[in-house]
Amino acid sequence: MTALLPFSITREDRVTSARAASLTTPHGVVETPAFMPVGTCGTVKGVAGWELDRLGPQMVLANTYHLVLRPGVERMIRLGGIHRLMGWGGPILTDSGGYQVFSLAARRVLDEDGVVFQSHVDGSAHSFSPESVVDAQVDFGVDVAMVLDDCLPFPAEPRSVGPSVDRTIRWAQRALIRAEERREAGGWAGGLFAIQQGSVNPDIRRRCSDHLASMAFDGYAIGGLAVGEPTEVLHEAVDFSVPMLPAQRPRYLMGVGYPEDLLHAVACGVDLFDCVLPTRSARTGKVFTSRGEVVIKNARWADDDSPLDPGCGCPTCARYSKGALRHFFISKEATSVVLLTLHNLYYFLSLMRGAREAIMAGRYGEYRERMQSNRELGPGE
Ligand SMILES: [Zn+2]
Repeated sequence: MTALLPFSITREDRVTSARAASLTTPHGVVETPAFMPVGTCGTVKGVAGWELDRLGPQMVLANTYHLVLRPGVERMIRLGGIHRLMGWGGPILTDSGGYQVFSLAARRVLDEDGVVFQSHVDGSAHSFSPESVVDAQVDFGVDVAMVLDDCLPFPAEPRSVGPSVDRTIRWAQRALIRAEERREAGGWAGGLFAIQQGSVNPDIRRRCSDHLASMAFDGYAIGGLAVGEPTEVLHEAVDFSVPMLPAQRPRYLMGVGYPEDLLHAVACGVDLFDCVLPTRSARTGKVFTSRGEVVIKNARWADDDSPLDPGCGCPTCARYSKGALRHFFISKEATSVVLLTLHNLYYFLSLMRGAREAIMAGRYGEYRERMQSNRELGPGE
């Protein structure tokens, strides 16, 4: 068996289950808790590589589904791999494409071997198997690859949850065998994370976790949440799902979420997050601040010469007023999306940096409370 990516827990909170840790990848150390900006097609929308360097994320996420369709594995290799494509030299994690196949692909046929589907781009036929998805991510040269999983919608048909999870477990085992073969063959030193599924059923999530924990994955993710369930259901599922995962490996909550969801999950012991919220919201003019959300197009900001968030250290807040940003947004200037994206990403990244600092200082509970109560105040005038 090949060595796992080194992971060490630096500090554990005494009151909550929050922890500060570091994961060593071929392209650098990921200090957690950490939020990963999403670069679906190989670029974080609106953000150049040098701006990403300035924002300083610990790790960036890209989507296997999108990158297999375009530019494709062969072309990615010719273009020098995923770090070269993204213009980013730090750690990169790719999701497996399982979630996208189930949510985006036009037609899909699932069997034990994998899934055959039609591209949402041009209708062309493609197939994913647990092995081919590992191969694609290894060929991209990612630091962390994810296993192909069987994703269910919410609410899931209760009878389908058990068989779906059994398939996820069998696929994870096949993915691990392929990843070990690829590591032993040389040329790739990344890690492979498994994905716990089971909808909102604790017994099935437990069964899934126990099986996955018996195999030597580099990390463990919680999948199948943030798929439309109410916040209380999400938080409750996080409460019972996180402790099921091995404590000595990184834990990654996929696709979550709002600042309050992140603060909650950190308290439960989650190390890694990704979500399209900061980037997607920027494109619709929704801004996250320490005092809650700002809808930039609102007329109330028209004559406001203060920054989005007076306490923010981002390049947008250093130079632009809310009034200017509103003017760019309603004038449909491309700059507006870039400026709002930089601010939103900075906010999410600094929220998690602050969480890490608070855990290191033994004051996470206090930090969480302060962040949440400030956000409830609202952005004011
Ligand atoms: Zn800012």
